[in-house]
Amino acid sequence: MAAGWQDVVRDAAAVRDAAAVAVDAALLAGGLMRTGEQAHASDVVNYAPFTLLPSAVPRALFEQAYAVQQDFNLLVDAVSQNKEFLEQTLASTIKVDDFTARLFRIYMQVLEEGLAQTVFLGINRSDYMFDCGQDGTAALRQIEINTIAASFAGLTSRTADVHRLVLKVLGKTEEASQLLPNNPAKGLALGIAKAWELYGSQRAVVMFLVEDVQRNIFDQRCVENELWNRNIRVVRKRFRDVFEQGSLDASRRLYVDGQEVAVVYYREGYVPQVYNQQNWEARLLLERSRAVKCPDIATQLAGTKKVQQELSRPGTLEKLLPGHPEAVARIRATFAGLYSLDQGEEGDRIAATAIADPDCFVLKPQREGGGNNLYGEELREVLKKIKDSPERTSYILMDKIKPQPAPNYLLRTHTPLQVSECISELGIFGVYVRQGRELVLNQAVGHLLRTKAIEHADGGVAAGVAVLDTPYLV
Ligand code: ADP
Ligand code: MG
Repeated sequence: MAAGWQDVVRDAAAVRDAAAVAVDAALLAGGLMRTGEQAHASDVVNYAPFTLLPSAVPRALFEQAYAVQQDFNLLVDAVSQNKEFLEQTLASTIKVDDFTARLFRIYMQVLEEGLAQTVFLGINRSDYMFDCGQDGTAALRQIEINTIAASFAGLTSRTADVHRLVLKVLGKTEEASQLLPNNPAKGLALGIAKAWELYGSQRAVVMFLVEDVQRNIFDQRCVENELWNRNIRVVRKRFRDVFEQGSLDASRRLYVDGQEVAVVYYREGYVPQVYNQQNWEARLLLERSRAVKCPDIATQLAGTKKVQQELSRPGTLEKLLPGHPEAVARIRATFAGLYSLDQGEEGDRIAATAIADPDCFVLKPQREGGGNNLYGEELREVLKKIKDSPERTSYILMDKIKPQPAPNYLLRTHTPLQVSECISELGIFGVYVRQGRELVLNQAVGHLLRTKAIEHADGGVAAGVAVLDTPYLV
């Protein structure tokens, strides 16, 4: 590996000592998660899984990812305001995908009523892998952009200190001093605070819309505590609480349990399983309200896989961001090949290509949260089965990114210490706030590196596959 950990990676005694230091440091630093067994309370907690060693990341690609983030913020915001584009792009998807269809129906309903919301807050995370070309050079390739509930801004701020200590323990003091500081949770709070301020009511609270099972609560607390530091009140509610205690007044101000809500920050609501009839009603109530939703439903739709695929068509970015040719070029430079499976000749052709050569592609349904994509033989079987049915339009195809693996140790509870060949995914957090038509804040606020063993094609940290990491720029 280019970072030069070769000498320590195979030194079993040094690795064992460093791992013990690392785990205690992670616990001390607050890199925490609730356990699966006690997911409803914080009496018993564990460390969030992480790598023993920071992973090498090419400096130029890291800088490229930061440099394009404001462009992506601009793009997501533009898509969210473009009814015609969303309508056209999602038309085929909503015919076959019930979840996207229901979100879309709420979107149309709130537009017809007229938006009460005037301040808009976007918190997104653009994820990348480093594609290794034939000649060995690496290129930055976007995996996806997450526009709802993008997590780990809090916990990732804890990992650099841990890795700094580990490198010192391993005798790499000089390398330790090069790890970058990183606190995206502060940046998320900055955006939420700005939106709260522009909403303009001192009494109003920020509401975190949270899951029933909150294993990743400490990640969210990092953002919450930054808001409390600014003397902004935070409450945590579930969809069910909103259904039972939520209401709108005549000017569509949102009240939950008697408190006016300025900002709704969703850490829930992106998978179909959470929505029963009551939760759909709660979602509609929130969307109709004047409160700043992060994201509003249009921005959630802007983050769908189908939108991502349409953005890669020649000419689309130019139409969405007129007058921004440089931003368009920077964005396009990060795109991997993306292909529509809509009915017709174009879809037939790419389906046949993917069936013939499944290892070059990933088959993606319109879902978030990891573990949904299909690869290799499974991709071939599914695509063969659906290639002549309308069902295929609920998927997109993407070129498979092939990063160069590097050895590392994945530290997780109750797991023996062993070296794994690993690949990493870099995420950049972006935050923006718009008031009416004016963008008043647009920033890249930090990064997240997640690393997994190569035998896992899919899945994130929450899914128990990837672990937290720190980039070591080379
Ligand atoms: P989700 O919304 O479920 O997070 P992603 O598009 O991020 O969907 O895919 C989940 C995971 O699958 C990613 O974190 C990555 O590990 C893997 N993956 C996704 N797209 C590709 C690709 N084009 N090439 C290689 N791996 C991919
Ligand atoms: Mg993802």
